[in-house]
Amino acid sequence: MESAIASAEAFGASYDVAPLSEALELGEGLEGDPAVAFRRTLGMFATGVTVLSTRVADQVHGMTANAFMSVSLRPPLVLVSIDRRAKMGALMHEGTRFGVSVLEARQTALSDRFAGRIGDDPPEATFEIVHETPLVEGALAHLVARVVRSYWGGDHSLFLGQVEFARYGEGRPLLFHGGRYERLIEDPRVFSQLPRELLDPILALGEERDFTDGEALMRIGEAGSDLLLVVEGSVRVERPGFSTTIGPGELVGEIEVLDPGRGRLADIHAIGAVRAIGVSRERLLSALEADPRAAVALIEVLAARFRETV
Ligand code: FAD
Repeated sequence: MESAIASAEAFGASYDVAPLSEALELGEGLEGDPAVAFRRTLGMFATGVTVLSTRVADQVHGMTANAFMSVSLRPPLVLVSIDRRAKMGALMHEGTRFGVSVLEARQTALSDRFAGRIGDDPPEATFEIVHETPLVEGALAHLVARVVRSYWGGDHSLFLGQVEFARYGEGRPLLFHGGRYERLIEDPRVFSQLPRELLDPILALGEERDFTDGEALMRIGEAGSDLLLVVEGSVRVERPGFSTTIGPGELVGEIEVLDPGRGRLADIHAIGAVRAIGVSRERLLSALEADPRAAVALIEVLAARFRETV
């Protein structure tokens, strides 16, 4: 057996490996078809969604895949797992370049399209060619890799790719979990969703703070025990894969002030001179105690956020 697997690991080797046992013990309560239970168990692992793509002559082929993983930074390597029945696998050989397009949260229809689930109105798929490799336009991140090894993986084949090109843009990823698409909560606002008559008394407890051009209002990872209302000027909010500029009347640090132990979520810098009002967690909690209507309204806002994810 050992030698059979070793030979299958050699690039381009036959996949005819002596079969491994298919026995699988299922935990209590998991009855029925073991293959279904196994698939559902694996589905508990949340992933992003990619479209793998390659070009043969002038023909572009794409396939949806979530079995994608990073392997090594030096050298830059990634791995994909492709069903042996898939057309995509038959196009992957040593030296073949393939694209990996990490789909953005709104690209569910494209994911369905490249998974062969074509509805009545399939979306148009447009590709951009980079390193002679097609990449899905509008995706959140792109990689171009060249197949350097392939491995036997049961009913799948594993392809190790050496990455030649990588880039990412801004947006939120499409997620896949439990056999369905998911997405991250899009709107991080909490306090700014409160009606003015409940928010204003909270902000009235704050203290004015001035920032000079380029000065940090907040830094990723730092403990955050206050929220800030931008009163004059504007600030740049940046975190990996996301950046925006916000101005007067907007709040920053709304989530961290409720969950200060886990650090700031974004770097925020002043653009020019900025005046802000900072409300400490302590003052905020006393304001909520003083007016439970604000606390109830906050709970409702948070409940609405949860609803976005279910
Ligand atoms: P086909 O089934 O022939 O093509 C796939 C689809 O893409 C077809 O609808 C085709 O019309 C369309 N298409 C291809 N090229 C183009 C083009 N140039 N322009 C427009 N449309 C085009 N399978 C795996 O093996 N590994 C995985 O990791 C994996 N993960 C998945 C994750 C998710 C979320 C989903 C939904 C499916 C996943 N699959 C995975 C299943 C896989 O996507 C499907 O089995 C797919 O149909 C296999 O594609 P194929 O290469 O056999 O080609």
